Formats: sequence, C-alpha cells, structure tokens
Amino acid sequence: MKPLFLAGQWRQGRGAVARSVFPADGSLNAEFSTASIDDVEEAIQAAHQAWQEPSWRNSLPVERARVLYKVADLIEQNVTQLAALQTRDNGKPLAETRGLVMSAAATARYTAACLETLDTELTNARSKDWLTMSVHEPLGVVAAITPWNSPIASEVQKLAPALAAGNAVILKPAEATSLIALELARLFEEAGLPCGLLSVLPGKGSVVGNAIVQHPLVKKISFTGGTSTGRQLAHIAAERLISTSLELGGKSPTVVLADADLDLAVNGVIYGIFSSSGQACIAGARLFVHTQVYDAFLQRLVAKTQALRVGHPEHVETQVGPLIDEKHLSSVDAYVRQAEHDGGQILVGGHRLSEGELAKGSYYAPTIIAGLSNQATVCQEEIFGPVLVVLPFEDEQDLVQQANDSVYGLAAGIWTENYRKAWQLARALDVGTVWINTYKKFSISTPFGGFKESGVGREKGRLSIVSYMQQKSIYMGLNTQPDPWCEG
Ligand code: ADP
Repeated sequence: MKPLFLAGQWRQGRGAVARSVFPADGSLNAEFSTASIDDVEEAIQAAHQAWQEPSWRNSLPVERARVLYKVADLIEQNVTQLAALQTRDNGKPLAETRGLVMSAAATARYTAACLETLDTELTNARSKDWLTMSVHEPLGVVAAITPWNSPIASEVQKLAPALAAGNAVILKPAEATSLIALELARLFEEAGLPCGLLSVLPGKGSVVGNAIVQHPLVKKISFTGGTSTGRQLAHIAAERLISTSLELGGKSPTVVLADADLDLAVNGVIYGIFSSSGQACIAGARLFVHTQVYDAFLQRLVAKTQALRVGHPEHVETQVGPLIDEKHLSSVDAYVRQAEHDGGQILVGGHRLSEGELAKGSYYAPTIIAGLSNQATVCQEEIFGPVLVVLPFEDEQDLVQQANDSVYGLAAGIWTENYRKAWQLARALDVGTVWINTYKKFSISTPFGGFKESGVGREKGRLSIVSYMQQKSIYMGLNTQPDPWCEG
C-alpha cells in the first residue's frame, strides 16, 4: 500500500485505506493510505516548526529559488511517467496530461525567477528623519486543497508561490488523484526541500481537509474546487480571520459573432467544451451564436462533434476520454435528461457510450443541446461534463445581458474578426479571463481567477508569491537628536 508523505517521512497514514481506480476500465491503480486526524495534527505541528527554523525563515530568495528550479527540472525529466500516472488517476488523455505536467514545470521555474526579482519597497517617508520601507513576510502554514481535474498543474500553482514566499504547506489532494500528488512530494524531496515544509495528506475533504483548514496554526486556505465547498471554506476562514484564495466553478459563455471565421470558431468552441470531457471549470459551456450564422455554424459544429474521437485515454489518437467515475456520469446524464424535460432538443450525443472497450469505462458522448433559454437549469448550473448548450442571439446588448446572467464569472470566449467589437465585449463581460479568437490557453505570467461566485483572489502572475505573504512596514529613525516631544 502506498504511504503518505508526512513531514519528510514516507509512512502509512492512520486513516482508512483508499483506492485509485483507472476511469477507462475500473481497474485498480493502487491502494494508498489516508491521513487520520492525528496525522493532520502531527503534520501541521511539524510544518509550523519547520517554517520557524531560521535556516528557512531567513533563507535567501536565491536559496529557495534553487529548490524550485530543481523541482522544475525534475518534473520535466519525469514528464512521461507523471503524465501516465495522471492519466491513470483521472482518465484524461495523455496529450492533455503531458501538457499539464509541462505547465507545472513552467510554473515552478517562473515562480523561482519571480522570487529572485521580488523587491522590498522603499516608501515615501514624509520626513527626512526616517527611512521607511515595506517588506513582505511569510504567513506560516498554508493549506493547499486541490481537485482531481488538473492535479499537478493546480498543485504546483499553489505549492511553488507558497514555498517561495517562505511558508510551509500541507497539501490535501483530491481523493481520486492522490497518487500524482504523492509523486510530486517525492520530487520536492529530491530537490532538497527541508523536512516538514511539505506534507501531502490524502483523505476525504470533509474529514482530512476539514481538520486542516480548522487548525489554528493554518494561516491561509488556498483552494481550487466546487463553489459550494469554496463557500464553506470561506466561512471557516472568516471565522478564523485568515485569508483565502478560491478558484471555483464556472459556466462560461462563448460568443460567435456574425463576422467570425467560422472554421476557427468551430474548432475553438469544440476544444473549449469537449477537451477534458468538459471536466474543467473554464469549459465554454454556453454558446451564443448570432442568428445570421446560426444554421451554418451549427451544421459545422454538429458534424465536427460527431467526428470527435472518444476513446481510451492512453491511445494517442483519442481526443475525448472517460469521465472521472460512474457517479459523475450519472450526474451529467441527469442534467441532460433535465434539459430534455425542459424542452431542449439534443442535436448530438445525450447518452453514455458503451460500444467495445468503452463498455468498461465511464464514457459520455459529446452532447449539444438547443432550444432552451439562458434561464434553463443546464445554462445556470455547472455540469462539469461534455455538454454544450447553444443559444441564438441578435442584439449585442441583449447578448451581454444574457452572458452575464449567471452566478459565475470565470471565463468567456469571443469569436469575431472585428477587434474593436471584441474589445468592447471583453470589457463588458463580468469574467476573470477573456479569450478572443482562441480558448483555454494559459500563460503562467497572466493572472487567473474568477469574478462573482467563480472565486476570490488570483493565482499565477508576478504577484502570486506576494499573495502568500503579509506586508510589514518598517520605519528607521535617522535623527540623532531626541524627539522634540520627549524634550524638557
Ligand atoms: P469537486 O467537485 O471538483 O470534487 P470539491 O469542492 O468537492 O470539488 O473538492 C475539491 C477539493 O476539496 C478536494 O480535495 C476535496 O476533498 C476537498 N474538500 C471537499 N470538501 C471539503 C471540506 N469540507 N473541507 C476541506 N476540503 C474539502
């Protein structure tokens, strides 16, 4: 049975035994041990102690950066094995998991470079008698809680800046993707991260995750996952007066204007919703198409969707893999049945796939639904599956109103050859990321996060390290004479 990683030790957790299962055929990848409440206590105490060690607290940025550069190299050197492991854990096609692993390496390297160039700021003193400055201090022990859909990328996105800032981290990965998180711990260990600064504690969110975020020594919750869990964690953080970073759900609109390059747009829309089988917070799940091109666009969209290669995630030609598990497949299917009940017309898909080798896994056909309004349940709730709802529009003001009529505000896509219009629309949409004539592309230097119920705070970008720090202002007196107030 796979051990967990607790304060530099590989050992059996005292919680229940858990299983990682390959979504493509239900076969067992491995059994692993989960943490008990006592393990959580031990890991957090060790993290607190390790964080306070002068050798870490007072380490130079260049020394912490060295660990991250090494982590980046090790991730890259192990890309094939890590991608394969993630595919076994969550069923994403290999081409996608390879991309996520490389993105994790890039994040570690970029964060190291940012750390080396992070400055202390001399502030305007308002008196020649002092020198004033603002420095950044680490927070202490940080809880990183991650989902199963893009594990290594979202984990390094938290671990790299939190550790660069000089904190210790307790990582609670999603139950389904604990194996890849443990492998990541091995690479941090090999890169020379001092003992205790990182523990990876698999287990149930409601038990292990909850014990971590409730612990008085935890000073920040960095969470990626569903909006309802995020809201619960925000309540806990508010009660404890600690900060959060919350990357939550989405129901992102994609817009095809009448002058769009339809071939480009159709490819982008399909990639935006059906890659990762739609199991992405940024999936472009609501498609608004101008009535002038609605029929022509839908014809191409349906034909291309029917031609998608759904299959085993380890086959190179596969574009769409299985869903994470049967429970999730039932939830996706229930949304599609609800759409039908609400009067929606299924243009393609709308059912599970079980021919040949697909019978062994949780495969769902890429699905397109028309004939509903933006008020329909499938337009308002996050499905997290390969389900696209198409809505015609005529007037651009009405389009903006409908696109923004959502509790979510994570991302949006715009397809048009008119960049003036694209700019205006991009500014009008209440979302954290807008893609124009492209979709689901990421750069580590560009901040990412949501408006509205899609999240609080931003990850990535130059300032990600600072989000794991607190500012301290220091005044240095330069005057050799006593303060006049004290005189006499
Ligand atoms: P998803 O729907 O993507 O699985 P969740 O929000 O349920 O999203 O889970 C994301 C992460 O949050 C997982 O690691 C999960 O175990 C963890 N989690 C779930 N509930 C809690 C909780 N009450 N406290 C802390 N962590 C939790």
